[in-house]
Amino acid sequence: MSLLVAGEAPATEISNPLDEAKAQLAAAVAVLGYGEGVRQLLATPRREMTVGIPLRRDDGSTEVLTGYRVQHNFSRGPAKGGLRYSPGVNLDEVRALAMWMTWKCSLLDLPYGGAKGGITIDPRNYSLAELERVTRRYTSEILPIIGPERDIPAPDIGTDERTMAWMMDTYSVNVGYTVPAVVTGKPVSVGGSLGRASATSRGVVAIALAALAHRGLKPAATTAAVQGFGKVGAGAALFLAEAGVKVTAVADQYGAVHHAQGLDIDALQQHVAATGSVVGFAGADPLDAAELLELEVDLLVPAAVEGVLTEANAHRIKADVIVEGANGPTTAAADRVFAEAGKLVVPDILANAGGVVVSYFEWVQGSNAYWWSAKEVEERLEARMLQAWDGVVDTAKARGLSLREAATVTAVQKVAEAHQIRGLYP
Ligand code: GLU
Repeated sequence: MSLLVAGEAPATEISNPLDEAKAQLAAAVAVLGYGEGVRQLLATPRREMTVGIPLRRDDGSTEVLTGYRVQHNFSRGPAKGGLRYSPGVNLDEVRALAMWMTWKCSLLDLPYGGAKGGITIDPRNYSLAELERVTRRYTSEILPIIGPERDIPAPDIGTDERTMAWMMDTYSVNVGYTVPAVVTGKPVSVGGSLGRASATSRGVVAIALAALAHRGLKPAATTAAVQGFGKVGAGAALFLAEAGVKVTAVADQYGAVHHAQGLDIDALQQHVAATGSVVGFAGADPLDAAELLELEVDLLVPAAVEGVLTEANAHRIKADVIVEGANGPTTAAADRVFAEAGKLVVPDILANAGGVVVSYFEWVQGSNAYWWSAKEVEERLEARMLQAWDGVVDTAKARGLSLREAATVTAVQKVAEAHQIRGLYP
């Protein structure tokens, strides 16, 4: 979902997330010296499913929605990745997101391949009962290709732990016994992990603080802007503020708010809980949402959707450190602008991997039927994120690469090695 309108894109700009993902892969393959065969293999999803989802609306009418599940790779284990409900969902977006899941799981050493699902739907226009019917029918349609050993969905934009409970129940009823491990990001009452809901945000902030330290910036002397105030952005803003960072602006899909002395994130969360948006928050001034990205801050956390930092606005971005809470927020052209300007861009497959890391912890706890405390989850999450950060920084330095290139090279190499040692069948 690019913010660029087709036909208005500059000739050099790439506006499709799949093109972005493929360009990143091609660059990594070139660094690793692999041939065209390996590039093609890793650029092509192993399996894709498109399903029609007939829905009976509450008023008795029917409509048919479209859903997807793309399994990009299985070389290192079962496919793993979220399920997105958004009006912009299309097959190429899901393919890109599935590829990024493969790299994310590989980079963080999780024993999974990558997948993603999506339904083209604006969940705000549907009742809870309708969303339950959509989720259950979608799950039934993709049932043959998911499972704890095949492909394990999780929440993403527009879905949450309740969606996962419906999926788990639908799958379980169909196979005839309860299978908690078919999804992660479940409610704690049915085998979810403590700390899963906040995991992506905690991971983003652990990495952001490491990145600031890398630049010699102290949290208490740092300002930040966060784009997105959903599952990732709201927690990121809160944990940044708790670490002493002055979060001066946040945006959601309805608008943005700004306060030069730093927003009271707790009070803002209460306002959002009451009104559904950051707009109108009494403790701040309104701000044009597009301006948020270009504010005079040290740290920028795009934590909404892909394709928001482009050739069109990259020259106006002032933040020194950009930490990608969203998947794919920066286009290749913007990346080049940031590299020339000497900015530090921490890529999505590292920065926002906390969610899938705790999904893995959920899977491990479930298979041992032994659950960890929230503290244990948080400590293990931070340790894994920082280990990956150190590895990426070392690789970047040793090979003269950007953090994105280093992260992708590391991830692609592990997937390619797994593929090569298994051999090509038949
Ligand atoms: N949707 C999240 C992501 O993009 C989490 C996926 C998962 O836990 O499997 O990383």
